[in-house]
Amino acid sequence: MNVAIFGGTFDPLHRGHLAVAQAAQERFHLGRIYFVPADVPPHKQRRPVTAFHHRYAMVALGTAGHASFVPSLLEAPSPGALRAPNYSLETVRRLRASLPKRDRLFFLIGVDAFMEIGTWHKADELLQEVEFIVVSRPGYSLADLADALPEALRPAASIRRPFQGTPVDGDLVLGRVVIHILPEVTEKVSATQLRSAAAKGRSLGKLVPEPVAEYIRKMHLYRQAAEVAAPISARQSTKVISIRHGKRKHSS
Ligand code: ATP
Ligand code: MG
Repeated sequence: MNVAIFGGTFDPLHRGHLAVAQAAQERFHLGRIYFVPADVPPHKQRRPVTAFHHRYAMVALGTAGHASFVPSLLEAPSPGALRAPNYSLETVRRLRASLPKRDRLFFLIGVDAFMEIGTWHKADELLQEVEFIVVSRPGYSLADLADALPEALRPAASIRRPFQGTPVDGDLVLGRVVIHILPEVTEKVSATQLRSAAAKGRSLGKLVPEPVAEYIRKMHLYRQAAEVAAPISARQSTKVISIRHGKRKHSS
């Protein structure tokens, strides 16, 4: 079976996350997608994150009704243990150890999160450990994606340069690193925007599944600390690109 791990802060889970999972499920025939809220997201330590149990509850409520979307406790806090950042490499290894050998594991991630991959804990090991599915949003080029790779894996500048302005689609294959790029997800929603709307007392409308909206209301989440969401630019057309061991193939 094809299985994906979809990590995030999920503060809260929203339609964008579900759209990403649905698109990846269709394209890569995923039999199961684990939604893994991080207890301590290594890259979100600038603002206080909502308690793990609330975020997990919202993931569970928002994925109910999708038989193959599974809320996961892989990065849940362990009682008595010191709280430490949840590193994806460890999570991937733990999940893989629990799966039958014949399962094919993918790591599902949005392009905005992927842009920071170079700063992740042992990013080059993670990229070689599991096939990535990067879900693009409008405004990103294939060159941006290649630029974001950790230095040891990054193709030479002369190879990256021609792809500036080339919308992302297709596969990027660099030795043992396989990055599948999924272009078609354009849900204009982010958790930052939703927290901000909730703090201003605005309705979250259809941007979160109704049970999640109800949970946010009942538990009085996001009543303070409105943050400003970055605007998302218009969608661009897509092309298929593949880079294999430094050689480029390019077709529209
Ligand atoms: P925040 O605004 O707090 O950064 P977020 O909406 O980006 O939150 P996360 O939990 O940080 O949500 O994201 C989990 C994953 O989902 C990341 O890989 C992110 O890139 C991806 N993602 C989130 N929203 C979208 C969206 N609208 N379209 C595509 N990918 C998304
Ligand atoms: Mg984000």
